[in-house]
Amino acid sequence: MEASDGIYWHEFSGKILLPPALLIALVRFMLLCQNTAMIILLSNDDGIHADGIIALESSLQQIGEVYTVAPEREQNAMSHALTLHRPLRVNEVGAKRFAVDGTPTDCVKLALTGLLPVRPDIVVSGINKGPNLGDDIIYSGTVSAAVEAALLGIPAIAVSLVAFENPQFNAAAEFTAALLSRVAAKSIPPDTLLNVNVPGVPKEQIKGWRLTRQGKRHYSENIVERTDPRGKKYYWIGGDDLGFAKDDGTDCMAVHEGYVSITPLQVDLTNYKLLSDNPIPSFPWP
Ligand code: MN
Repeated sequence: MEASDGIYWHEFSGKILLPPALLIALVRFMLLCQNTAMIILLSNDDGIHADGIIALESSLQQIGEVYTVAPEREQNAMSHALTLHRPLRVNEVGAKRFAVDGTPTDCVKLALTGLLPVRPDIVVSGINKGPNLGDDIIYSGTVSAAVEAALLGIPAIAVSLVAFENPQFNAAAEFTAALLSRVAAKSIPPDTLLNVNVPGVPKEQIKGWRLTRQGKRHYSENIVERTDPRGKKYYWIGGDDLGFAKDDGTDCMAVHEGYVSITPLQVDLTNYKLLSDNPIPSFPWP
């Protein structure tokens, strides 16, 4: 029954058909229904002012209650770093928006262990500017924010846009909302996260989505050596993108062929095949 039905009936009939206690119970029930909206924690590694997280905030606000706890500045390639050697400062920069002077992992840990007044149903990290495909996953702060949620027992999704120049986040934001409203948080098993990569093309050019495995990206291993004004050598690491292994079923291939890639990742890094094959010959020790 709609609330308006009840009130209309109540007034139109000219006498009290619904006892006040029942009316109060009805209102309470409706408030409870509102409170059961999906609670979403949002974070990233590009910083709280990045276009990607702002696009995601507005699309996810349409399907749930969104809290944002994100680094106050860019934290790319921080992987799973935690800040343990100094205090963390939190700035409330808007309604349900918190900027932290730490890493993506700091943000999620802080949010889930005391900063938020509620426990989120799901954690979403992104939208990252740039891919997190294949080897990138290991270095990624975006993925690590989602890993931290999985470690703390909350399902998580990391979202990245495969574009660096003039990134348009609308399609990726829209896809994430569509995915979240269909994948109930409970259907992502414990210790698992979804790593989503969206091609950096207009929505009309995206062919659909595929469930994939982690692929292999190639980077040049060259380091750049320079000399500083005082005559001491210094180095730049971070190689050029040399493409990826053309293996079917991988995240790299799916995006290359115009599909959104969804890779289920797990926190347990054990190689179970090697564990059962037992490749280490028996030897006495000590
Ligand atoms: Mn980033």
